[in-house]
Amino acid sequence: MKIFIASLATETNTFSPLPTGHRTFEETVLMRDASRRPATIGTAPVIEWRKAAEADGHTVVESLTTFAQPAGTTIRSVYEAFRDEILGDLKAALPVDMVLLFLHGAMVADGYDDCEGDILKRARALAGPAVPVGCELDLHCHLTQEMLDAATAIITYKEYPHVDTAARARELYALCKAAGAGKIRPVSALFDCRMVNMWRTPVEPMRGFVDRMMALEGKDGILSVSFAHGFPWGDVADVGARMLVIADGDKAKAAALAERLGREIFAMREQTVTPHLGVDAALDRALAAKAGPVVLADVADNAGGGAPSDSTFILKRLVERGISDVATGCYWDPVAVRICKEAGVGASFDLRIGGKCGKASGDPVDLRVTVRGVSDRLTQTGNNGGQIPLGEAAWVEGAGIDIVLNTLRGQTYAPDAFSNLGLDPTKRKIVVVKSTQHFHARFAPLATDVVYVSTPGAIPPDFANIPYTKKTTPFWPRVQNPFG
Ligand SMILES: [Zn+2]
Repeated sequence: MKIFIASLATETNTFSPLPTGHRTFEETVLMRDASRRPATIGTAPVIEWRKAAEADGHTVVESLTTFAQPAGTTIRSVYEAFRDEILGDLKAALPVDMVLLFLHGAMVADGYDDCEGDILKRARALAGPAVPVGCELDLHCHLTQEMLDAATAIITYKEYPHVDTAARARELYALCKAAGAGKIRPVSALFDCRMVNMWRTPVEPMRGFVDRMMALEGKDGILSVSFAHGFPWGDVADVGARMLVIADGDKAKAAALAERLGREIFAMREQTVTPHLGVDAALDRALAAKAGPVVLADVADNAGGGAPSDSTFILKRLVERGISDVATGCYWDPVAVRICKEAGVGASFDLRIGGKCGKASGDPVDLRVTVRGVSDRLTQTGNNGGQIPLGEAAWVEGAGIDIVLNTLRGQTYAPDAFSNLGLDPTKRKIVVVKSTQHFHARFAPLATDVVYVSTPGAIPPDFANIPYTKKTTPFWPRVQNPFG
């Protein structure tokens, strides 16, 4: 058998001031042999698919794997060129016996609100109606009927933090293999949960819900269950949470279960809201803790949601309140990094930090700093084990606050974003990370407390008031009963 694999992914924050062009893909992941290289952001699926296919004695045809650090709308010509490269490779490989694509599900390009639906439709047209076309998506996706109509099976991650990318890839392979062999006939049904929210799967009641989803799979004709959380900061008609069920040949059964689970999520809505504290309240709670580190998440400046990652709302209050024994990162500030590297370790000077990308970044903070460490190529461990590059970096200390500055925009996943520069964050009372939830997998086990901070910024957790222009259906929390 010949199996075609490829990946084109980014999560588009249509409200972000930063365009997503070729350079952002190039800087994050752009490879044509990703499945043969060590894992990094967005490459786990193709690695798993090659492993599984070769173990079965099949031939793998690998096309592009590319992933852009989330930002604003993708430039049209960039999207079309990547898409056409993948489709061109598929056409050249025909006939194939299976197509496996890792896409994000919330990619928007100029002229394309549903990039994944567009790619899947074209891939299906090339591959033909009988060939299994499988697609893995991030759970932060705008799941559309167009995607489902084109694919044989779609599976989203179940976990946020996304620690299950590889496991879902293996399931998709198994499903497509069984479909190709005629052992199953996957039929999909979607239920619109009419909600816009972020859900944290390590904590109850979501933990139990995810476990129940998994327990339903593989029996009574249910092949797969995905809860597509949605990505709130996409101004597209299909933004919002969807429940997806794939059943074996029985559409009514899939639809009934999707609705039952979707209504279950809706019923839990108040319990699944992430509690956020304001900046000062969060700092007070951290100061009151008997022991550290208390980890504060600056959720609104998460580069993983398309934010600039240079906002200073928390840093400013730390300085104003004279709070020390703090480590914070990573601030995307190539200018500051350049200055620090030029000056070298040990140099002390006045440095302007952050606040450079627009209103959502706040004002820059001017601080007398000493350079404590520099790196030409800082990396951190991602949630699937691979190393994620952060670019050139500097560790500066000023007013008792240790700050990591970097040149490759990215959210803070792991403590080694600090420790690889020589800064041990576990020795600080307070650690402030720029991330919504991915930090949780590796920071929570080290923390005495984790606090989600409701900062201003590019992706504030104010889901009722996101200024959508294309969504026409009612949703919670903007209305209390969108089903009414
Ligand atoms: Zn995601």
